[in-house]
Amino acid sequence: LGIKGAPTCELVFKNAKAELIGTRRMGLIRYVMSLMNGARLGIMAQSVGLSDAAYREAYNYAIERRQFGKPIIEFPAVYEMIANIRAKTDASRTMLYETARFVDMYKTLEDISKERKLTPEERTEMKHYSRLADAFTPLGKGMTSEYANQNAYDAIQVHGGSGYMKDYKCERLYRDARITNIYEGTTQLQVVAAIRHVTTGTYLQQIREYEKEVVVPELEPLKRALSKMAQMYEKLVELVTTPKDEDYLDFHARRLVECAGHIIMGHLLLQDANRNPELFRRSAEVYIHYGQVEVIKNYNSVTKSRIEDMGYYKLMPEK
Ligand SMILES: Cc1cc2nc3c(=O)[nH]c(=O)nc-3n(C[C@H](O)[C@H](O)[C@H](O)COP(=O)(O)OP(=O)(O)OC[C@H]3O[C@@H](n4cnc5c(N)ncnc54)[C@H](O)[C@@H]3O)c2cc1C
Repeated sequence: LGIKGAPTCELVFKNAKAELIGTRRMGLIRYVMSLMNGARLGIMAQSVGLSDAAYREAYNYAIERRQFGKPIIEFPAVYEMIANIRAKTDASRTMLYETARFVDMYKTLEDISKERKLTPEERTEMKHYSRLADAFTPLGKGMTSEYANQNAYDAIQVHGGSGYMKDYKCERLYRDARITNIYEGTTQLQVVAAIRHVTTGTYLQQIREYEKEVVVPELEPLKRALSKMAQMYEKLVELVTTPKDEDYLDFHARRLVECAGHIIMGHLLLQDANRNPELFRRSAEVYIHYGQVEVIKNYNSVTKSRIEDMGYYKLMPEK
């Protein structure tokens, strides 16, 4: 479909001479996971770039294109789409920076540990940031790559029929975005990695840390909205984990992970808006509203279904 600048092919090695590198049995859990986590951060950055390009293309087209005697950006149906693209882009960027910060923190301490013995406080700090990096990487990769796809889709919609043609860049963005939620692990696999941080409480602990941040009075309503979302999330985690049924947890895992994502990204945008209202207030308002609706939707999806209903979704090969 896309990323035509990167030639891709499958390599098959047959009877090739091989030499063991590293420690036996550490291949998947240490080396591949370490490589994948680095690459996942890269895909997050790629997703932010795609989303940002989608925003610029959609915005520039909407101020130029006129229909019914006015620029299409003046129609609520159009400016809502563009505002959502912008909000999801800003939310993706702030998530990327926060994840990169956690990775930087633990990697710096890891580097220091190669030079000298860490103090007990430093060791605790390294473990703390390593855990946060481990939790935020799949969450951020999953959320930002899905947003890159949604944003590229909406950018085409803003362009109407022209967006479907090759004349405008949004057609390429749409094709290029499609790989981001597939390679370095599909979104479903990011959920598999992230769900343990839902059940062990890593996300909730970090949300509690964000809740301690003080914001200006104008932003208090947003902070309260995030706090309500966190209450719903906590309740959802309890509802889904109480039956101790692995299939049931897997069935709702994506909903739980996404709720954590909306709340965390909402908090990060809120902090951005607190530091720089001119740049981020609008996106914080739009994103937190969007996230709130999504959390309510996920909450309803869980509370309005029964464990037995999973059977209706289970499609097995016919005998
Ligand atoms: C353009 C391109 C470039 C690539 N570059 C590289 C590269 O450089 N190096 C490299 O090693 N690989 C590369 N890949 C491979 C890529 O990483 C894989 O295609 C991707 O990780 C998905 O794996 P899969 O294709 O085996 O899909 P599958 O694992 O077969 O997945 C199929 C479907 O099943 C779902 N699924 C699978 N397992 C689970 C589970 N446990 N729980 C829930 N759902 C599940 C998936 O989400 C998906 O919907 C590239 C692929 C493409 C298309």
